[in-house]
Amino acid sequence: MNSSTISLNFEHSYAEHLPDFFAEVKPTPVQKPSLLQFNTSLASELGIDDRGLTPELVPRIFSGNELPRDARPIAQIYAGHQFGNFVPQLGDGRALLLGEVIDRQGKRRDIALKGSGRTPMSRGGDGKAAVGPVLREYLLGEAMHALGIPTTRALAAVATGEPVMRERPLPGAVLTRVAASHVRVGTFQYFAARRQTEHVRKLADYVIQRHYPEVNEADDRYLALLQSVVQRQADLIARWMLVGFIHGVMNTDNMAISGETIDYGPCAFMETYDPAAVFSSIDHAGRYAYGNQPAIALWNLARFAETLLPLLGDENSERAVADATAILETFLPRFEQHWYNGAWTKLGLADSKSVDSLNESECALVDDWLELLKTNKVDYTLAWRALADFAEGDESPLRSLFKDQTGLENWLARWTEFQGEIDPSRLASTIRAVNPLYIPRNHLVEEALAAASNNGDLSSFEALLSVVQHPFDENPQLARYAEPAPMTFTANYQTFCGT
Ligand code: AMP
Ligand code: MG
Repeated sequence: MNSSTISLNFEHSYAEHLPDFFAEVKPTPVQKPSLLQFNTSLASELGIDDRGLTPELVPRIFSGNELPRDARPIAQIYAGHQFGNFVPQLGDGRALLLGEVIDRQGKRRDIALKGSGRTPMSRGGDGKAAVGPVLREYLLGEAMHALGIPTTRALAAVATGEPVMRERPLPGAVLTRVAASHVRVGTFQYFAARRQTEHVRKLADYVIQRHYPEVNEADDRYLALLQSVVQRQADLIARWMLVGFIHGVMNTDNMAISGETIDYGPCAFMETYDPAAVFSSIDHAGRYAYGNQPAIALWNLARFAETLLPLLGDENSERAVADATAILETFLPRFEQHWYNGAWTKLGLADSKSVDSLNESECALVDDWLELLKTNKVDYTLAWRALADFAEGDESPLRSLFKDQTGLENWLARWTEFQGEIDPSRLASTIRAVNPLYIPRNHLVEEALAAASNNGDLSSFEALLSVVQHPFDENPQLARYAEPAPMTFTANYQTFCGT
């Protein structure tokens, strides 16, 4: 591997502040790097000067074959609960943090390679990634970003020209991931499990500085950190739920302390509304089902809180537990507030009342809508969107989704009452502004990834990417992208961990 003359203005705050939290590892060179996709708009957001980045250089840099001269690749250490079982050492088994850049808004962002070869944390794995999962992460991250949901994003996807051995040989790829940081609940767990309290404290201080500087003003900084992380997760999960996103593998090592969505493995967008919806092939018990996500996030946050207990006053640990518990108890109310306000906005009603928290009959309107979607097995995305057409007098898109017209009628009467004086066209446009028409439909994602992976044909991927990057803007020529998958597809659909 070569060192390049190019610089990406990397900084290394993580490596400098937390010297015991990683291993220095060089990426494994790949045979024949070729660019699959580059995120020009993200590059510009990051302030990356692309003048030096020639078309020959880009695949070399973002495969790890050539390192920017200011890169300092490290594999980060972490632990984690996987499906509820604690694994004391996980860590970056196939990822390397190259460095951090300060973006155009002054925010520090990690730039990391994923699929760049083995590290001391690889355990039995090959350290590699395949084209399909790499492009899936790229696509889903961009879709979530376009929906306004905090997420890591892909800067580049590069094919390696080498096969990776899975159930069958697959073409290999490297993803370049951009994150607010890669510190996870599992990073705290690693040191807490080893009773290295001073390491936990250093990590907490680092996280406060990087993600929650306002916490420095608080009397008890660590308690305030817990509160902030809890709030951000509550908001994040509410946002997922509002768009029907199922993460699929909410292990504690896949929960970022920053509050970004991270690690798009066996994730999927729900089609027919069903709280029990699960797509992951390994999630037999439905631990990470759509409707279980708030409870699981809280479970993960409880694991995070446990790591902070020694920092919350060790002479009186009962008090620490009580304080931490009180904060964890704010998760569900915060989640519900965000969820109901979001749902109220999706119903187009935010104009009718400045939402702070909804009263009982308002919450019931939301709950009963979901009950109707469930009993009628309605497509979650289309149902909300069709409310806009209905508001404008075009009733058929909504009505055609429901078998139980009487139930729908009754609910619509209540919805109409809450609208008060809102002008119908304004109602429709506010509904369309917050309810996507285009989500990454599972059958289209699979179709695009298969074409890219099997035939090296990126045209479907690029078309789908550009559609999900504008989820709210209707274009009649794109009707096929708004349609749900055939029922038979969804009934058999499984996503895999992408390893
Ligand atoms: P993930 O399912 O991607 O969140 O990964 C869980 C853990 O397994 C992390 O420690 C990863 O680094 C590790 N891992 C996943 N896939 C591989 C692989 N192909 N080679 C080495 N480690 C891996
Ligand atoms: Mg992970």
